[in-house]
Parts: sequence; structure tokens; C-alpha cells
Amino acid sequence: MHIMYYCILCKQLHPLGFSEREFVFKSGFHYFSSNLYQAGVCAKEPYTLPKEQPATA
Ligand SMILES: [Zn+2]
Repeated sequence: MHIMYYCILCKQLHPLGFSEREFVFKSGFHYFSSNLYQAGVCAKEPYTLPKEQPATA
């Protein structure tokens, strides 16, 4: 069974491939075609997590 997630970049569903490039939000969900899917992105590079951002004074 494929786990599907809603990609906020492509605005469509992708099958979760558990690749390093993919990022699925643990607490983000999106309704698509009357179904609730986890939200994510198929290429996480453009999205830098806050903890990964360098601290600048
Ligand atoms: Zn995508």
C-alpha cells in the first residue's frame, strides 16, 4: 500500500518514497479530493528547517 502525501510545491499527491529529498510535515495535513493527507514536499532543499538555519546576530 502506497502512502500518499500532498505536495505543497506541486499541489498534488505523491506516493511517499521515503527518500532523503522528501519531507513530510509531522503535524501538517491537507484535504485533497475529500480525503485528508499529510502535507509535505517532494524536494526539501528550498525549505530549510528553522533549526538548520545559521544563527546570525
Ligand atoms: Zn511535488
